Amino acid sequence: MSSTGVIGEYSAGGVVYRRTAEGYDIVAVQRARHEDWSLPKGHIEAGESREQAALREVKEETGLDAQIVGELGEVVYFYRRREEGLVRKSVYHYLMEALGDKLGNPNWEVSEVRWVPITGAYTLLSYENDKGIVRKAQTFLNTPTS
Ligand code: ATP
Repeated sequence: MSSTGVIGEYSAGGVVYRRTAEGYDIVAVQRARHEDWSLPKGHIEAGESREQAALREVKEETGLDAQIVGELGEVVYFYRRREEGLVRKSVYHYLMEALGDKLGNPNWEVSEVRWVPITGAYTLLSYENDKGIVRKAQTFLNTPTS
């Protein structure tokens, strides 16, 4: 914990896409413990780069191998942990091309994984900042944002 009493937490993940006849699909992850739909992401472990963490978390949460094609920036949010207090969380987002289509099975962390058209992701994703990252991905992929 820092001297201000705020705990710093660091994760990596992002937008994993595949090409379709109509445009692009991206992967969204439902997490039972938070009852949300989010982009795949998770904690950066000691000795791991942000990029390695993003690719490992994508594999763990979605079953997909992927390759990084760009950076989509950092998102910061705060939440409160019951025992420890306020957490300041940074999530480093990448644009990643899926190297296959087949999604993994649900597990203790992830209750459902889904391919969704990139234009439909806004209605599914729970957090405004995730939607902003998808918008950046659309700009990067040069595809319409609505
Ligand atoms: P990680 O996937 O990094 O291992 P975690 O499950 O430990 O994450 P978070 O996903 O950061 O933790 O969730 C902690 C809290 O923050 C929950 O209350 C969740 O609803 C909220 N949260 C998750 N993602 C976001 C976001 N993008 N913006 C705002 N709040 C979020």
